[in-house]
Amino acid sequence: MQTTTPPPLRKIIHIDMDAFYASIEQRDFPELRGKAIVVGGSPEGRGGVVATASYEARKFGVRSAMPSKKAQQLCPEAIFVRPRFDVYKEVSRHIREIFHRYTDLIEPLSLDEAYLDVTEDKLQIGSAIEIAKLIKQAIKDELQLTASAGVSVNKFVAKIASDLQKPDGLTFIGPSGVEAFMEKLAVEKFHGVGKVTADKMKRMGLYTGADLKKLSESDLVQHFGKTGRFYYRIVRGLDDRPVEPHRETKSMSAEDTFAYDLTTIDEMNEALDKIAQIVHTRLLKYNLKGRTVTLKIKYSDFRQITRNQSFPQPFNDLQTILSTAKQLLLGTDPEDKKIRLLGVGLSNFGEILPPSNGQQLELF
Ligand SMILES: [Mg+2]
Repeated sequence: MQTTTPPPLRKIIHIDMDAFYASIEQRDFPELRGKAIVVGGSPEGRGGVVATASYEARKFGVRSAMPSKKAQQLCPEAIFVRPRFDVYKEVSRHIREIFHRYTDLIEPLSLDEAYLDVTEDKLQIGSAIEIAKLIKQAIKDELQLTASAGVSVNKFVAKIASDLQKPDGLTFIGPSGVEAFMEKLAVEKFHGVGKVTADKMKRMGLYTGADLKKLSESDLVQHFGKTGRFYYRIVRGLDDRPVEPHRETKSMSAEDTFAYDLTTIDEMNEALDKIAQIVHTRLLKYNLKGRTVTLKIKYSDFRQITRNQSFPQPFNDLQTILSTAKQLLLGTDPEDKKIRLLGVGLSNFGEILPPSNGQQLELF
């Protein structure tokens, strides 16, 4: 029998707002309630993408980061709404204030999602389930919005749990239930496992956590690199990553691999329009401004290059990101090349480091 050291018992809550931007729009504009709405770029122009879809639109298969044009094809009745990030940031700030009533150990993942460590809570409530209920109720009472909560002993399980009973859900996976939960979990539900990795796992006959658990640590490392070590621990319920209040995001990027190689500047620029739009939406979601734009190019022979340009002032506007990426592309003599992948990123987020005067990060 295999023995593993039990993880130190912590009380972790993952809170995730339900269809955040779309719910705020439906709250503020009653005529949008009960309707399929898409917050994001327009389906008319090129490169518009979905930031958030209401649950009514999701029934048609509309998802975040999907081109708005495709969303409109899937759901012709959808109403497209421009995002109001100033409002979302303000709501986010209020949610953070609610969290702070219970704990200061808060790690925001974006405007609408955060981990809380309530092992020791400020009000000595003691029960993480009770705290999750109180937070959900406060969000409902004060903001007329719903959130879903996952409660467990680590970040990994708490995050998956918050997604299980959306919307307005609360899922608790207790210490004695973690290993059984991980064994039953389908590999594609492991966050961090993308479609490519999930497909690879399935080709190897690995469908659930229980299947992964049969492999040794060195087998997992051999097949999946460094992440293999993470899988080895996580299927055993071992995740000791702390909730980090000032975790720093280093870069934000998006890339696209094309079905066929791009050979003309027009095609490449069109691809950059779409990719830059996705990066831009994410930057707004995470409230980040950077100073360096990076362009990544992979050619048909798999040779890869990156080019970057830095600016004195941080920014996150689409126009600057896009024009810089296009400039960088021109600098590579793209005309006679065959390109199979393009990526755009923004980094150098120096200014969002926590200020030393004890002020809160603007992130959540
Ligand atoms: Mg959410």
